[in-house]
Amino acid sequence: MLIQRGGLKVVAGLGISGVAAVNFLHKQGYRVAVTDSRQNPPGHDQIPAEIKTSFGELDLELLLSAEEIVISPGLDPKIEQIQEAVKQGIPVVSEIQILRRATDKPIVAITGSNAKSTVTTLIGIMAQAAGKKVAVGGNLGRPALDLTNDDPELYILELSSFQLEATSNLNADVAVVLNMSEDHLDRHGDMFGYHTAKHRIFQGVKKVVYNRDDSLTRPLVPDATPMQSFGLNAPDMNQFGILKDTDGTIWLARGRERLLKSEDMYIQGTHNVANALACLALGEAIGLPLDTMLETLKTFKGLEHRCEFVKEVKQVRYYNDSKGTNIGATLAAIDGLGAAIEVKGGRLAIILGGQGKGQDFTALRESLTKYVKVAVLIGEDAPIIEQAIQGTTTLLHAQTFKEAVELCQKNTQANDVVLLSPACASFDMFTGYPQRGHQFVELVNALN
Ligand code: ADP
Repeated sequence: MLIQRGGLKVVAGLGISGVAAVNFLHKQGYRVAVTDSRQNPPGHDQIPAEIKTSFGELDLELLLSAEEIVISPGLDPKIEQIQEAVKQGIPVVSEIQILRRATDKPIVAITGSNAKSTVTTLIGIMAQAAGKKVAVGGNLGRPALDLTNDDPELYILELSSFQLEATSNLNADVAVVLNMSEDHLDRHGDMFGYHTAKHRIFQGVKKVVYNRDDSLTRPLVPDATPMQSFGLNAPDMNQFGILKDTDGTIWLARGRERLLKSEDMYIQGTHNVANALACLALGEAIGLPLDTMLETLKTFKGLEHRCEFVKEVKQVRYYNDSKGTNIGATLAAIDGLGAAIEVKGGRLAIILGGQGKGQDFTALRESLTKYVKVAVLIGEDAPIIEQAIQGTTTLLHAQTFKEAVELCQKNTQANDVVLLSPACASFDMFTGYPQRGHQFVELVNALN
């Protein structure tokens, strides 16, 4: 018999995180119920039979009977039923809050508009290589409460702004907001709301890592909190950055100390140098040895769909950056790859488009002019994008994805790069960015 503890915990929204939350709380001996607006929410068969469920609509009565509501990251806390509960004084928390309450193990917390998954995975591999018993997850991979089953000595968590919105006093050992660019404004209203949500990651933080190149990532924390920065420029003492030799060689550096040539990293592009530097700073904050971290940088192959090298056809290299679903990510891909091929006279052909989520595409103009020879537009918001980037480069339209890839091939030559980095969501043509990326890889593999 489990001991029943306290009042009722109601999990709002099932899915992967909801299942982990229900199972975790149940195992801890709490009374748990779950409600979801879907009739058959994903994971409904992965929770114990004795859990009270209410599916088909968010059950207000059940929510109002809760001692605490655990809200899944997919649910907007602004919805009526949740707001009603808030009005009645019922705490609404994320599953990250439950994890923080349940463990006193150190947490490395990572958020940002882009690069979260890359940095979280990479620092996870570095920690593992250093012999730490580490659990990696959160917004990527396994949900946070599932990780508790591993009984790790250290948690490395990727956190979304949605998860942070319902998390207080995370008390992370080290936390970082990697970068800030427009995204999810549909949910957060404006940049201010988005910024506020992200910066909740610093509540109670012991050490801070921030991005010198992006002032929006620097938090207001008590003066005594140790802060370390990274950036794509020469670092001050004890900070991470880059140093350049007269022959153009770029070094990852700590203060004046040259650590590793950027060309010796497996993942390429200046944005990945920034990601590597962020990991070095995070790793130093939790005491990982520098040598081990640098070795990891030489072998880490990056993640699928993130500026992933696919194949070279007739001396043209093809990259799949299907995860480039916002302008910030696409700018990083264009600038990173564009600068690398410019030295050999190469230029980019890019596939852009899909669902634009209300972004301002004029922000792409400068980089398109500088590095791109042709942009092939696809998807629902192609007309909006066309209007915003008119006059920057040659613009072509494709009715199918296959046609887009073929147009890119037709318009490129030796030393050029073909890049899928749409700056848009994919749901008008695909089930999601993975399907878009896989189809691209298939189409590229069929080229000759
Ligand atoms: P997230 O988990 O934040 O979505 P990912 O690591 O999955 O981040 O990468 C998402 C997109 O952002 C990819 O298109 C990737 O190429 C791009 N990206 C990676 N690093 C950076 C960076 N430092 N700045 C901007 N974009 C980046």
